Amino acid sequence: MRPPRRLRELALDTKGFMPPEEGDALWAAALEAGRACPGLAFMEVGAYCGRSTLWLAAAARECGTMLWSLDHHAGSEEQQPGWEWHDASLVDPATGRMDSLPTYLATLGRAGVRDVVVPIVARSRDVSSRWHSPLALVFIDGGHGVEPAREDWRGWGPWVARGGMLAIHDVFDDARDGGRTPHDEIYAPALASGDFREVRAVGSLRVLQRTS
Ligand code: MG
Repeated sequence: MRPPRRLRELALDTKGFMPPEEGDALWAAALEAGRACPGLAFMEVGAYCGRSTLWLAAAARECGTMLWSLDHHAGSEEQQPGWEWHDASLVDPATGRMDSLPTYLATLGRAGVRDVVVPIVARSRDVSSRWHSPLALVFIDGGHGVEPAREDWRGWGPWVARGGMLAIHDVFDDARDGGRTPHDEIYAPALASGDFREVRAVGSLRVLQRTS
């Protein structure tokens, strides 16, 4: 099974770091999560320009649910000027600061998914600390510093409903392939909690299902 062709093509045409086969796996995981937890929404933590958002939106539409899509849009640490993942075209000339919100909203508009995607422009912890709803799927692709990753796991992990999925991006088993924080601060603690089992691994995407 493949995501709807048009949304997939638009996703592949959108700036971001989600390889096609990982995006397809994310879509499939969201579809399963939505079917396992009818009526519950999806949460995306770290949306950037909306690339992975489109795969999740396709699954949300299919399941008749909504996607909350959270990002402060000021760029994570590694996207600031002078850092490896900086993109100068996303700097607001008026402020000199990173702002991925205009590009993100343009992506949603172009794809026609505003009916299933609710953008939240905020810091992850400011929302998670006030959140009170179980979720079918939580996709964590946020800041890769130790603290942001730790806060994302602590703040969002508890809201994955039983049978639902926790998807994590940029999990590298070998430290030589990439940063260690999503692995050490999200993936490893989730497995160690005993509440999740791994159901899918594609590239650096890991999908864990809550079993208890
Ligand atoms: Mg990522």
